[in-house]
Amino acid sequence: MHQDSKVYVAGHRGMVGSAIVRKLEAAGFSNIITRTSSELDLRNQAAVGQFFEQEKPEYVFLAAAKVGGIHANNVYRAEFLYDNLMIEANIIHAAYVNSVEKLMFLGSSCIYPKMAPQPLKEEYLLTGPLEPTNEPYAIAKIAGIKLCEAYRDQYGCNFISVMPTNLYGYNDNYDLQNSHVLPALIRKFHEAKESGAKTVSVWGTGSPKREFLYADDLAEACFFLMENYDGRELVNVGTGEDVTIKELALLVKEITGFEGELEFDTSKPDGTPRKLMDVSKLHSLGFRHSTNLREGIALAYADFKNKIVEV
Ligand code: GDP
Repeated sequence: MHQDSKVYVAGHRGMVGSAIVRKLEAAGFSNIITRTSSELDLRNQAAVGQFFEQEKPEYVFLAAAKVGGIHANNVYRAEFLYDNLMIEANIIHAAYVNSVEKLMFLGSSCIYPKMAPQPLKEEYLLTGPLEPTNEPYAIAKIAGIKLCEAYRDQYGCNFISVMPTNLYGYNDNYDLQNSHVLPALIRKFHEAKESGAKTVSVWGTGSPKREFLYADDLAEACFFLMENYDGRELVNVGTGEDVTIKELALLVKEITGFEGELEFDTSKPDGTPRKLMDVSKLHSLGFRHSTNLREGIALAYADFKNKIVEV
């Protein structure tokens, strides 16, 4: 890539896509193409084909997806499978037809088997059954990886796949039902502090472990890999460190300044017991994250408070 390359960021309004756009702008890129979902429905094959034919992007970051936390994944199962399959198939095929120089597909750590050994190495893909709560999403993401591999094998396309761990940061979704755990906890603890509530409800037992990466660190990694990695094999992107949900809740409690107690709601699912990424490949390629969890949560909390003021 060079600064006047034509770069399409699919999903630029989301947490990941917007972080990638910020990174590209900071690096001096001036020819970034974006479309909102009302301008271009990525599930519509004809519309996506036409968009690529008109714009002829040279590089594509495929960060558009239907995403959500454990509840949304479990409840909107058809949408998570259908929307994501369509988005990926349409963009990856259009990228091939229109001779895109390089495409990066963003997946997720949930593609790995539920009971895979920890930390999760890239080669564990398709070695066992998936976690049921997010199986539809995982199946769609696995299809995306396989599309990139197949278009590389059959047509020689330089399409790469990157698997981020659980993400959080600027521009996150704070919906209490459908978001991921970290934004949900930030909001719950903040609101409990404001209202003077005595307890905050934390879903599940608190014992599952999760790894969290600040979205701007992911964007740095994506930029780095777009510049430096042309391999067929996927690359995990994470920190290589995880915490229990209880530890996470205590950290959010401290950062938000809530003084009451945690209450574990075991009627809600725990999901996968653990999904820690093996990031040795990323590290050996020369990239490491830079924001630690405490700093990142403080930044996300500041963003959350700004958004409340704006509304
Ligand atoms: P997952 O990583 O795909 O399981 O998705 P989540 O980020 O939604 O959930 C991670 C873990 O946090 C699960 O064990 C949840 O039960 C737990 N959790 C605790 N409180 C919450 C909450 O308020 N919202 C969400 N989404 N998860 C929570």
